[in-house]
Amino acid sequence: MSVLIFADQAEGKIKKAALEAISYGAKVAAQLGTTATALVLGAADQAELAALGNYGATKVLHAADARLHEVETTVYTKVAAAAAEQENAVVIIFPHNFDGKAIAPRLSARLKAGLVAGAISYPDTSNGFVVKKSVFSGKAFANVNITSEKKIISIIPNTFPVATGNGTAAVEAFSPAINDADFKVKVVQTNTLSGEIPLTEAEIIVSGGRGLKGPENWGIVENLAHALGAATASSRPVADAGWRPHHEHVGQTGLTVRPNLYIAIGISGAIQHLAGVNGSKVIVVINKDPEAPFFKAADYGIVGDAFEVVPKLTEAVKKYKGLN
Ligand SMILES: Cc1cc2nc3c(=O)[nH]c(=O)nc-3n(C[C@H](O)[C@H](O)[C@H](O)COP(=O)(O)OP(=O)(O)OC[C@H]3O[C@@H](n4cnc5c(N)ncnc54)[C@H](O)[C@@H]3O)c2cc1C
Repeated sequence: MSVLIFADQAEGKIKKAALEAISYGAKVAAQLGTTATALVLGAADQAELAALGNYGATKVLHAADARLHEVETTVYTKVAAAAAEQENAVVIIFPHNFDGKAIAPRLSARLKAGLVAGAISYPDTSNGFVVKKSVFSGKAFANVNITSEKKIISIIPNTFPVATGNGTAAVEAFSPAINDADFKVKVVQTNTLSGEIPLTEAEIIVSGGRGLKGPENWGIVENLAHALGAATASSRPVADAGWRPHHEHVGQTGLTVRPNLYIAIGISGAIQHLAGVNGSKVIVVINKDPEAPFFKAADYGIVGDAFEVVPKLTEAVKKYKGLN
């Protein structure tokens, strides 16, 4: 019996969301009196794999097959199923990111395992195996009891801490039988955005809405983000209008983010927007309308014109950080 954690990587570097998943999985393993095994697919640095012991993994299965370098979800599901079988995994953990959202449901169907997608709690095993998730765009919580023998949980990034320890994991090569015919799609081109902090992993996000009037004014958002070391995001109409790329749009139909600090500039705070950001630890709202609904969800609010407030805030941050 074990707990298996799917740890995804990009360019050989294990993602932060995966480190959170390993830390979470190690806690669940301790809860169940067993050990945590991480599964890594594609090329990865062996020292970095062994260092996953710092986060609580006792073993790392490394499927280094070159064909696994690009994510192919059906093949990844097959590899995860083989790993779950080999390790006799009773609980399988995924980060609830793009990879996890694509693979966990497929694995759930394959293993006939109950799945809680987007968990925000550790399992409560005092009476069953109950995991909490938020539902109805963050307006309510559901406590879900997984009753199947095998259980799958995908955890919302930026919700659980990354453990800090000094363990070393045993790294084992893992070579399940996969055929070329298993690959149903082929990635022909990848365009990587360089130099940007991935939104779902960002600790701080500065986000702009229609109150900024047009794309030519985005400099004030970017300057503040730059000073804070933050990622930038936007409301949906801003992306729909082509002011910002769609991968920056947060909300019900965009990304769900949970940064430590979310700064909303010129965003009204419609329920569909809040659905993607209301898990943020601290929300700061800058809006010239004191009646803007976003203020109800804010920890701190500044009523004022973004074009006056934001540059002053940026200057204050720079001064505080000695960046001038
Ligand atoms: C099915 C569905 C799904 C949706 N999904 C999403 C989603 O995922 N994400 C999302 O964001 N929206 C989504 N929407 C749209 C959502 O309902 C709102 O229309 C949208 O969030 C509003 O964007 P906004 O706040 O940028 O613009 P607005 O509602 O136009 O608000 C602009 C705000 O800027 C303020 N403002 C104006 N000038 C200034 C100034 N100079 N300084 C400071 N403040 C200023 C105004 O007071 C106002 O509050 C969805 C809608 C539907 C129907």
